[in-house]
Amino acid sequence: MDIKEKDNKINLLEFGADELKSIVEGLGMKPYRAAQICRWIYSEGADSFSAMTDISKADREKLSEIAEIRPPELLERLVSHDGTEKHLFSLHDGEKVESVLIPDEGRLTLCISSQAGCALGCRFCLTGAGGIRRNLLPHEITGQVLVAGAGRPASGTAGKGRKITNIVMMGMGEPLMNAGNVFEALGRLISPKMFNMSPRRITLSTAGVVPGIKALGESGLGVNLAVSVNAPSDEVRDYIMPINKKYPLKALMKALKDYPLAPRRRITVEYVMLRGINDRPEHAAQLGKLLRGLRCKINLIPFNEHGGSEFGRPDEASVHAFQERLHSMNYTAFIRESRGVDILAACGQLRGFSARKTLTEAPPGV
Ligand code: SAH
Ligand code: SF4
Repeated sequence: MDIKEKDNKINLLEFGADELKSIVEGLGMKPYRAAQICRWIYSEGADSFSAMTDISKADREKLSEIAEIRPPELLERLVSHDGTEKHLFSLHDGEKVESVLIPDEGRLTLCISSQAGCALGCRFCLTGAGGIRRNLLPHEITGQVLVAGAGRPASGTAGKGRKITNIVMMGMGEPLMNAGNVFEALGRLISPKMFNMSPRRITLSTAGVVPGIKALGESGLGVNLAVSVNAPSDEVRDYIMPINKKYPLKALMKALKDYPLAPRRRITVEYVMLRGINDRPEHAAQLGKLLRGLRCKINLIPFNEHGGSEFGRPDEASVHAFQERLHSMNYTAFIRESRGVDILAACGQLRGFSARKTLTEAPPGV
């Protein structure tokens, strides 16, 4: 097969279950073949038609003449001392994105990207510093899950892979600035015909794009919502997150209170702690007041320092005092230490560059 012929083939990963059915029917195959193909790709992790043993040889040949299964290309896989894995992908136009796999007792959480870069330019965030490159398409978002689930480079053929139990959309980009593609990707992740994940195991994190929060609520997708509040007042938030000028805290809090939460569900409030900026006891008191009446839990994330940033990480005592203050106001508040710091996989460290130079030797698995 020459390159040109390969390029002309359609990538089945680009299509939702219904579109796939039309393609299959268009080829003169029985419609139920589409469900079989979906099962092979999304449950079994197949990346070639030859693996699809319950589909007739004639049909498999017909499919491989016009189509292929082409996940984003995995350029690099780095494994941290704490078991976290960072995956660097190259998309068809050369854009780079990253996802991070975090094993934890009984869970395997994948942190995925929704954009190459980010337009919102939060002052403390390395992804934001590079600006926006482009939105990811639905299959470029779900493709990160396929590759991580396969546990091997995209073109490998080994085994059935591993089960991703949870997804957090907290990688590169602002998902609600790419809402159309992100909602389509989420739909595929929860579709019983495709990834078949529970929406309760999926969390979308936003910097506070108010119309997007409303649209997510109305979409009925039922995924969890996390919001990077990061500041107790407009004054501080304006300084660290330019999006606050467009959607100030009052509008954000209203959108969060209006968000349709399932019973016993809570919104996750993320709060990056920056030394001297938002980490004082009076900030905790202000935050408690701001969140009053919102069904939420708070994740305190001590800032991960990175070169060139004007911000510092608060000392442990301030972080604990902040948490205590929130507890005393009856909030649930956790301190979240980022994982994978040694491979630049921690919150706010994703920027789509090779991090290999930070390692002294090649990691296993690539
Ligand atoms: N754009 C979305 C999704 C990305 S999530 C959002 O901002 O919510 C990235 C999370 O990491 C956000 O909560 C952000 O506030 C946090 N973050 C960014 N840079 C960080 C850093 N250097 N240290 C700790 N957390 C950081
Ligand atoms: Fe974008 Fe989120 Fe980083 Fe802000 S924190 S620049 S919204 S990725």
